[in-house]
Amino acid sequence: MSKGAASAAVVSVGNELLFGETLDTNAAWLGRKLATLGISVVRGYTVGDVAEDIGWAVRDAIQVADLVLVTGGLGPTPDDLTKVAVANVLGRDLVVDDRVRESLQARYREQGMDDVPPAAYDQAYVPADSESLHNAEGTAPGIFLSCDEATIVLLPGVPRELEDIVSGSLLPHLERLQRDSSDRVWHHVIHTTGVAESRLTALVEERLADVPDAERLGVGLAYLPDLCGVDLRFTASGLSRDEAFARMAPLVQSIEGVVKPYRFESDSGDLAEAVSQILRERGMTIATAESCTGGLIAKKVTGVEGASDVFAGGIVAYSNEAKIALLGVSAIDLAEHGAVSETVATQLALGVSDLLNSDVGIGVTGVAGPSGGTEDKPVGTVWIATSLGDEVAATICRYSGGRDAVRAKAGQAALAAVYRRLVDATA
Ligand code: AMP
Ligand code: MG
Repeated sequence: MSKGAASAAVVSVGNELLFGETLDTNAAWLGRKLATLGISVVRGYTVGDVAEDIGWAVRDAIQVADLVLVTGGLGPTPDDLTKVAVANVLGRDLVVDDRVRESLQARYREQGMDDVPPAAYDQAYVPADSESLHNAEGTAPGIFLSCDEATIVLLPGVPRELEDIVSGSLLPHLERLQRDSSDRVWHHVIHTTGVAESRLTALVEERLADVPDAERLGVGLAYLPDLCGVDLRFTASGLSRDEAFARMAPLVQSIEGVVKPYRFESDSGDLAEAVSQILRERGMTIATAESCTGGLIAKKVTGVEGASDVFAGGIVAYSNEAKIALLGVSAIDLAEHGAVSETVATQLALGVSDLLNSDVGIGVTGVAGPSGGTEDKPVGTVWIATSLGDEVAATICRYSGGRDAVRAKAGQAALAAVYRRLVDATA
């Protein structure tokens, strides 16, 4: 690799990306994937299906990065111009790659056709002096080429195909790039939920101020918030893997006490996965009774592989009648305290865990808005109850934001409450 520093740029090609019809999930996926390999993406470009624009982006990218990944525009249709544009930038011809031609022929023969349609043959053309990368998910191969400035990889736009090539045939190349590089980037991520970014920042920075500057050398910290929580991401670069984690360790250690009430352990950053894992380890099951979240929590829990081991079931009890008939909520309490109340949340949690014979129950009832708020219970008021056996704990939350935000935050908070109770139960 040319410069020794493992940096990458991603060029996303497609009119649909500019029009907003397709979200650029490839760039996001590549950024995450490369980060796990210690290669950091330093620049991203989005261009339409225009050869000059693709050429401009690639020419710029090879000046700033060692590895340039181009996604999209590799198919057989006339708007697929990536190969032409890149061949132009490098001053190379397009030539037939015999291996690709043969595999195309084999693939079409399998489908009962005598020969490859002429348009599909375009896929066998690659810039001279390049290596094709096997695509197990489709016909267009990835293309790997080097020039003086950088290594360039052309990848199909279809996410499944791109991911197959990167994780398969491109991986050895990436690992070599990472090994050859003297400036790798390593990450250590701490997932938190239930604490505002401003508060978390204040708590963490106060602790970090006590760590001598010399020990913080070369380590960066980023706060990455979304609706469900804040990730703290430590970064160390220019070091071997062991050195990098040794350098980050004292910083991680110093904030341990302040993040503990909010942190959860999950490789993917998904709290439902963290909850499922603890339930599985303890041989426990969970059931949900949801009003304002409308099944969001059940969706999250069932989104985790192997959910049937830990998820007994969920009921969306939206109307008062459903709460009474399905979950045994008291009509008198509903009339007296209203649906959004501690007693109803509690009865929902106990009711569903009783009905479905689960160890853990969740009851959520609130005002998601935009209408339905009162002075007493404004939009964003949510009662969350969790039961562990017969023991119930309930809290009132007040969320800002629109209907979707209130529902998402309430769902996350309910899972966080279960997680904390399960962790504390063994502490
Ligand atoms: P292409 O390789 O340009 O023919 O892209 C094929 C399909 O992949 C497009 O129709 C999109 O649906 C999808 N696609 C292209 N680029 C991206 C991208 N950057 N992120 C996610 N999907 C994409
Ligand atoms: Mg396209």
